[in-house]
Amino acid sequence: MNKNYDGLAIFFESFACDKNCPYCIAKDNIQFLNKNENFDQLENLLKQFSESGLHFDKFILSGNGETSLQDYETLKGIAQIVSNYSNLFRNKRFYTSGNLFFEDKKFELINRYFDQINIMINSLNPELDMQVTRYNKAIWSNENVKRAKNIKLDISLTNYLDTEHFIRDIEERLKEFPNIKKVKLKRLKYHGEETKQSKWIRENMMSEQAIDKLSEILTQKYPKFTNSKDTYFKIKEDCNLILNAAGRKNPTKWLFIKNDKIFNYYDEELDMKKVLEGEAL
Ligand code: SF4
Repeated sequence: MNKNYDGLAIFFESFACDKNCPYCIAKDNIQFLNKNENFDQLENLLKQFSESGLHFDKFILSGNGETSLQDYETLKGIAQIVSNYSNLFRNKRFYTSGNLFFEDKKFELINRYFDQINIMINSLNPELDMQVTRYNKAIWSNENVKRAKNIKLDISLTNYLDTEHFIRDIEERLKEFPNIKKVKLKRLKYHGEETKQSKWIRENMMSEQAIDKLSEILTQKYPKFTNSKDTYFKIKEDCNLILNAAGRKNPTKWLFIKNDKIFNYYDEELDMKKVLEGEAL
Protein backbone atom coordinates (compact mmCIF):
# COMPACT_ATOMS: atom_id res chain seq x y z
CA MET A 1 0.00 0.00 0.00
CA ASN A 2 1.37 3.43 -0.96
CA LYS A 3 1.42 5.66 2.07
CA ASN A 4 3.32 8.54 0.46
CA TYR A 5 1.51 11.83 0.18
CA ASP A 6 2.80 14.80 -1.82
CA GLY A 7 2.42 17.13 1.10
CA LEU A 8 0.84 18.20 4.32
CA ALA A 9 0.00 21.87 4.79
CA ILE A 10 -1.18 24.08 7.59
CA PHE A 11 -2.81 27.26 6.36
CA PHE A 12 -3.59 29.79 9.03
CA GLU A 13 -7.07 31.04 8.49
CA SER A 14 -6.30 34.61 9.52
CA PHE A 15 -6.01 36.93 6.53
CA ALA A 16 -3.93 39.54 8.36
CA CYS A 17 -1.28 40.87 6.00
CA ASP A 18 0.97 43.92 5.93
CA LYS A 19 0.82 44.20 2.14
CA ASN A 20 -2.05 45.54 0.15
CA CYS A 21 -1.88 43.80 -3.22
CA PRO A 22 -4.54 44.89 -5.71
CA TYR A 23 -5.18 41.27 -6.72
CA CYS A 24 -5.51 39.88 -3.20
CA ILE A 25 -8.49 37.65 -2.56
CA ALA A 26 -7.52 36.58 0.96
CA LYS A 27 -10.20 38.70 2.57
CA ASP A 28 -12.83 37.43 0.15
CA ASN A 29 -12.04 33.85 0.84
CA ILE A 30 -15.15 33.28 2.89
CA GLN A 31 -14.48 29.64 3.62
CA PHE A 32 -11.74 30.79 6.00
CA LEU A 33 -13.76 33.29 7.98
CA ASN A 34 -15.01 32.98 11.53
CA LYS A 35 -13.09 29.90 12.46
CA ASN A 36 -10.83 29.57 15.42
CA GLU A 37 -7.36 28.32 14.85
CA ASN A 38 -6.75 25.29 16.92
CA PHE A 39 -3.67 23.10 16.94
CA ASP A 40 -4.30 21.22 20.18
CA GLN A 41 -4.39 17.91 18.37
CA LEU A 42 -1.47 18.54 16.02
CA GLU A 43 0.98 16.42 17.97
CA ASN A 44 -1.52 13.60 18.25
CA LEU A 45 -2.25 13.74 14.50
CA LEU A 46 1.43 13.61 13.58
CA LYS A 47 1.96 10.77 16.02
CA GLN A 48 -0.79 8.78 14.32
CA PHE A 49 0.68 9.57 10.89
CA SER A 50 4.08 8.43 12.06
CA GLU A 51 2.80 5.21 13.62
CA SER A 52 0.88 4.38 10.46
CA GLY A 53 4.01 4.74 8.33
CA LEU A 54 2.84 7.75 6.32
CA HIS A 55 5.37 9.94 4.53
CA PHE A 56 4.97 13.43 3.07
CA ASP A 57 7.25 14.94 0.48
CA LYS A 58 6.67 18.46 1.83
CA PHE A 59 5.36 20.17 4.91
CA ILE A 60 4.07 23.70 4.36
CA LEU A 61 3.22 26.36 6.90
CA SER A 62 1.43 29.22 5.24
CA GLY A 63 -1.13 31.89 5.87
CA ASN A 64 -4.26 32.96 4.16
CA GLY A 65 -2.48 36.31 4.69
CA GLU A 66 1.10 36.84 5.95
CA THR A 67 2.19 33.77 7.91
CA SER A 68 4.74 35.55 10.10
CA LEU A 69 2.08 37.80 11.63
CA GLN A 70 1.00 34.85 13.77
CA ASP A 71 2.19 35.22 17.33
CA TYR A 72 5.60 33.84 18.21
CA GLU A 73 4.34 31.19 20.62
CA THR A 74 1.96 29.68 18.03
CA LEU A 75 4.73 29.51 15.45
CA LYS A 76 7.12 28.04 17.97
CA GLY A 77 4.62 25.40 19.10
CA ILE A 78 3.97 24.24 15.54
CA ALA A 79 7.67 24.34 14.57
CA GLN A 80 8.66 22.23 17.56
CA ILE A 81 5.91 19.66 17.13
CA VAL A 82 6.67 19.28 13.43
CA SER A 83 10.38 18.95 14.09
CA ASN A 84 9.65 16.14 16.57
CA TYR A 85 8.22 14.26 13.61
CA SER A 86 10.82 15.31 11.06
CA ASN A 87 10.97 11.76 9.70
CA LEU A 88 7.48 12.31 8.28
CA PHE A 89 8.66 15.01 5.88
CA ARG A 90 11.40 15.30 3.26
CA ASN A 91 11.29 19.09 3.19
CA LYS A 92 9.69 21.70 5.48
CA ARG A 93 8.72 25.08 3.99
CA PHE A 94 7.54 28.34 5.42
CA TYR A 95 5.71 30.89 3.24
CA THR A 96 6.09 34.63 3.66
CA SER A 97 5.56 37.71 1.55
CA GLY A 98 8.55 39.30 3.29
CA ASN A 99 7.60 40.31 6.80
CA LEU A 100 9.34 37.29 8.36
CA PHE A 101 12.75 38.87 7.67
CA PHE A 102 11.83 41.95 9.71
CA GLU A 103 10.95 39.95 12.81
CA ASP A 104 14.32 38.71 14.05
CA LYS A 105 13.06 36.31 16.69
CA LYS A 106 10.54 34.65 14.39
CA PHE A 107 13.09 34.55 11.58
CA GLU A 108 15.62 32.72 13.81
CA LEU A 109 12.97 30.22 14.80
CA ILE A 110 11.81 29.50 11.26
CA ASN A 111 15.32 29.41 9.81
CA ARG A 112 16.26 26.87 12.44
CA TYR A 113 13.30 24.53 12.15
CA PHE A 114 12.41 24.76 8.45
CA ASP A 115 14.43 23.71 5.40
CA GLN A 116 13.21 26.42 3.06
CA ILE A 117 11.63 29.87 3.14
CA ASN A 118 9.34 30.68 0.22
CA ILE A 119 9.06 34.38 -0.54
CA MET A 120 6.04 35.44 -2.53
CA ILE A 121 6.61 38.77 -4.24
CA ASN A 122 5.12 40.71 -7.05
CA SER A 123 8.30 41.74 -8.81
CA LEU A 124 12.07 41.43 -8.51
CA ASN A 125 12.29 45.15 -8.96
CA PRO A 126 12.01 46.52 -5.40
CA GLU A 127 10.45 49.87 -6.32
CA LEU A 128 7.84 48.29 -8.53
CA ASP A 129 7.12 45.63 -5.98
CA MET A 130 6.61 48.23 -3.27
CA GLN A 131 4.50 50.37 -5.56
CA VAL A 132 2.11 47.58 -6.54
CA THR A 133 1.83 45.95 -3.13
CA ARG A 134 1.85 49.28 -1.24
CA TYR A 135 4.56 47.91 1.01
CA ASN A 136 7.25 50.09 2.52
CA LYS A 137 9.81 47.54 3.70
CA ALA A 138 12.90 46.93 1.58
CA ILE A 139 13.22 43.14 1.69
CA TRP A 140 16.43 42.83 -0.32
CA SER A 141 18.49 45.04 1.95
CA ASN A 142 17.50 43.06 5.03
CA GLU A 143 20.48 40.98 6.21
CA ASN A 144 18.21 38.13 7.31
CA VAL A 145 17.50 37.33 3.65
CA LYS A 146 21.19 36.48 3.20
CA ARG A 147 21.12 34.40 6.39
CA ALA A 148 18.21 32.20 5.31
CA LYS A 149 19.35 28.64 4.65
CA ASN A 150 17.36 28.12 1.46
CA ILE A 151 15.05 30.44 -0.38
CA LYS A 152 12.51 29.88 -3.07
CA LEU A 153 11.17 32.95 -4.85
CA ASP A 154 7.64 32.93 -6.11
CA ILE A 155 7.16 35.89 -8.45
CA SER A 156 3.99 37.01 -10.14
CA LEU A 157 4.39 37.97 -13.76
CA THR A 158 3.22 41.54 -14.08
CA ASN A 159 3.45 43.29 -17.41
CA TYR A 160 5.34 46.41 -16.49
CA LEU A 161 8.81 44.89 -16.82
CA ASP A 162 10.13 44.04 -20.22
CA THR A 163 11.62 40.61 -20.78
CA GLU A 164 15.26 41.73 -20.78
CA HIS A 165 14.76 43.61 -17.56
CA PHE A 166 13.16 40.61 -16.04
CA ILE A 167 15.95 38.20 -16.96
CA ARG A 168 18.65 40.64 -15.86
CA ASP A 169 16.94 41.11 -12.49
CA ILE A 170 16.65 37.37 -11.95
CA GLU A 171 20.30 36.81 -12.75
CA GLU A 172 21.44 39.62 -10.48
CA ARG A 173 19.42 38.27 -7.59
CA LEU A 174 20.72 34.74 -8.06
CA LYS A 175 24.26 36.06 -8.03
CA GLU A 176 23.76 38.23 -4.98
CA PHE A 177 21.84 35.60 -3.03
CA PRO A 178 23.30 32.13 -3.61
CA ASN A 179 20.83 30.81 -1.05
CA ILE A 180 18.03 31.29 -3.62
CA LYS A 181 17.65 27.72 -4.75
CA LYS A 182 14.53 28.04 -6.84
CA VAL A 183 12.64 30.73 -8.68
CA LYS A 184 9.11 30.20 -9.72
CA LEU A 185 7.46 32.61 -12.11
CA LYS A 186 3.76 32.60 -11.76
CA ARG A 187 1.13 34.08 -13.96
CA LEU A 188 -1.77 35.06 -11.77
CA LYS A 189 -5.09 33.86 -12.96
CA TYR A 190 -8.42 34.67 -11.57
CA HIS A 191 -11.15 32.14 -11.84
CA GLY A 192 -14.55 33.38 -10.95
CA GLU A 193 -16.82 36.32 -11.34
CA GLU A 194 -15.68 39.77 -12.42
CA THR A 195 -14.28 41.68 -9.43
CA LYS A 196 -11.83 44.52 -8.96
CA GLN A 197 -9.08 41.92 -8.41
CA SER A 198 -9.84 40.00 -11.59
CA LYS A 199 -9.98 43.29 -13.50
CA TRP A 200 -6.55 44.27 -12.14
CA ILE A 201 -5.11 40.89 -13.05
CA ARG A 202 -6.50 41.08 -16.57
CA GLU A 203 -5.09 44.56 -17.08
CA ASN A 204 -1.70 44.09 -15.42
CA MET A 205 -0.49 40.56 -15.79
CA MET A 206 1.96 39.53 -18.49
CA SER A 207 0.19 38.32 -21.62
CA GLU A 208 0.40 34.74 -22.86
CA GLN A 209 2.52 36.02 -25.79
CA ALA A 210 4.97 37.78 -23.45
CA ILE A 211 5.25 34.64 -21.33
CA ASP A 212 5.94 32.60 -24.45
CA LYS A 213 8.69 35.05 -25.38
CA LEU A 214 10.16 34.91 -21.89
CA SER A 215 10.19 31.12 -21.89
CA GLU A 216 11.74 31.05 -25.36
CA ILE A 217 14.62 33.26 -24.17
CA LEU A 218 15.06 31.26 -20.99
CA THR A 219 15.09 28.03 -22.98
CA GLN A 220 17.90 29.37 -25.19
CA LYS A 221 19.83 30.86 -22.32
CA TYR A 222 19.80 27.77 -20.17
CA PRO A 223 20.60 24.62 -22.11
CA LYS A 224 19.61 22.43 -19.18
CA PHE A 225 16.13 23.77 -19.34
CA THR A 226 13.59 21.04 -19.26
CA ASN A 227 10.40 22.25 -20.69
CA SER A 228 7.43 20.27 -19.58
CA LYS A 229 5.22 22.23 -21.93
CA ASP A 230 2.40 24.05 -20.19
CA THR A 231 3.33 23.43 -16.59
CA TYR A 232 6.91 23.88 -15.45
CA PHE A 233 10.30 24.76 -16.84
CA LYS A 234 13.35 23.81 -14.83
CA ILE A 235 16.73 25.36 -15.44
CA LYS A 236 19.35 23.54 -13.47
CA GLU A 237 19.61 21.14 -10.63
CA ASP A 238 20.82 23.41 -7.88
CA CYS A 239 18.91 26.51 -8.87
CA ASN A 240 15.68 25.77 -10.61
CA LEU A 241 13.86 28.45 -12.42
CA ILE A 242 10.33 27.34 -12.82
CA LEU A 243 7.93 29.02 -15.10
CA ASN A 244 4.43 28.07 -14.29
CA ALA A 245 2.63 29.65 -17.17
CA ALA A 246 -0.44 27.57 -16.84
CA GLY A 247 -1.45 28.67 -13.38
CA ARG A 248 -1.55 26.52 -10.32
CA LYS A 249 -1.25 22.84 -10.88
CA ASN A 250 -3.59 21.01 -8.59
CA PRO A 251 -1.71 19.01 -6.04
CA THR A 252 -2.66 15.40 -6.39
CA LYS A 253 -2.06 13.98 -2.94
CA TRP A 254 -2.15 16.91 -0.59
CA LEU A 255 -3.59 16.98 2.88
CA PHE A 256 -4.43 20.16 4.78
CA ILE A 257 -4.82 20.60 8.50
CA LYS A 258 -7.44 23.09 9.58
CA ASN A 259 -8.72 23.27 13.12
CA ASP A 260 -7.10 19.93 13.87
CA LYS A 261 -9.09 18.26 11.09
CA ILE A 262 -7.75 16.86 7.84
CA PHE A 263 -9.00 18.19 4.52
CA ASN A 264 -8.21 17.61 0.88
CA TYR A 265 -7.48 20.26 -1.73
CA TYR A 266 -11.16 20.78 -2.36
CA ASP A 267 -11.86 21.54 1.26
CA GLU A 268 -13.61 18.29 2.05
CA GLU A 269 -13.01 16.78 5.43
CA LEU A 270 -11.38 13.40 5.13
CA ASP A 271 -11.97 10.14 6.87
CA MET A 272 -9.04 9.62 9.27
CA LYS A 273 -9.01 5.88 8.70
CA LYS A 274 -8.56 6.42 4.96
CA VAL A 275 -5.85 9.05 5.60
CA LEU A 276 -3.89 6.59 7.73
CA GLU A 277 -4.27 3.85 5.17
CA GLY A 278 -2.90 6.13 2.44
CA GLU A 279 -6.20 6.06 0.59
CA ALA A 280 -7.64 9.44 1.44
CA LEU A 281 -7.36 11.01 -2.02
S1 SF4 B 1 0.83 39.36 0.13
FE1 SF4 B 1 -0.75 37.87 -0.34
S2 SF4 B 1 -2.18 37.98 1.39
FE2 SF4 B 1 -0.89 39.83 1.47
S3 SF4 B 1 -2.11 41.38 0.39
FE3 SF4 B 1 -0.70 40.43 -1.09
S4 SF4 B 1 -1.88 38.77 -2.06
FE4 SF4 B 1 -2.94 39.38 -0.16
